[in-house]
Amino acid sequence: MKKFVIGNWKMNGDALEVHEYVHDLKNALEGMPCSVGVAVPSLYLPQLTALLGRIPVSVVAQDVSQFKGSGAYTGEISAAMLRDAGCDYVLIGHSERRQYFDEDEMVLQQKILCACDAGLTPIYCVGENLEQRLQCHYLQVLDKQLEALEAVRGHLPDTVWVAYEPVWAIGTGKVADAGQIAEVHAFLAARLAEILPGRCHAHLLYGGSVKAANAREILALPGVDGVLVGSASLTVAELSRIIAEAGAPV
Ligand code: PEP
Repeated sequence: MKKFVIGNWKMNGDALEVHEYVHDLKNALEGMPCSVGVAVPSLYLPQLTALLGRIPVSVVAQDVSQFKGSGAYTGEISAAMLRDAGCDYVLIGHSERRQYFDEDEMVLQQKILCACDAGLTPIYCVGENLEQRLQCHYLQVLDKQLEALEAVRGHLPDTVWVAYEPVWAIGTGKVADAGQIAEVHAFLAARLAEILPGRCHAHLLYGGSVKAANAREILALPGVDGVLVGSASLTVAELSRIIAEAGAPV
């Protein structure tokens, strides 16, 4: 299976940058050795979809409403609307959503449910903070976070993505080391095999200060099916180097 490289712009960029990004990305995708997805702010998703046209890059939403259907939820964007905007995937449970918007497993399971019902593939993000890592609680924390997936197991599509993003590595320049990533990915794979229905297969991403300089080593680790890239995805130049590393021999 090809590795999956997903760029998460977070709350960055504008319409002009989306335009230039797609223009430059086209060239970077020549002989692309991996699958690529881009998560721009929701306002720019239809523009991204339109500009990509037939370019094989997946459109990824950064978040989705926990509310199903339509209704009086001012400011919310439903899963069906994201589908309408051309999205295939949606990030759910990113640590910044958990931290700044108090999203807990109850809310996140509703989001996963809405995404799946609308035909979006969830990319469910999990990760421990520094204190939990230092106190060696991280596997329990991750296990608890997986409960949101388990709660809606009957609704999940056959393929689900889980991104391991240690909070202490996001935007800090600190990358989890090979042993830490391999340990957690093995743990997640084993737990997911237990809690997901037999028909359902989970793929695992690593995220946290991934850049071209470390992408090859991370992508070569057992159980790493791809990377979720934040700040390094903001320029096509760096994202293309990561894409190239995804196909480079180890
Ligand atoms: C992220 O936002 O998912 C992320 C991993 O950010 P960064 O690559 O900047 O650490």
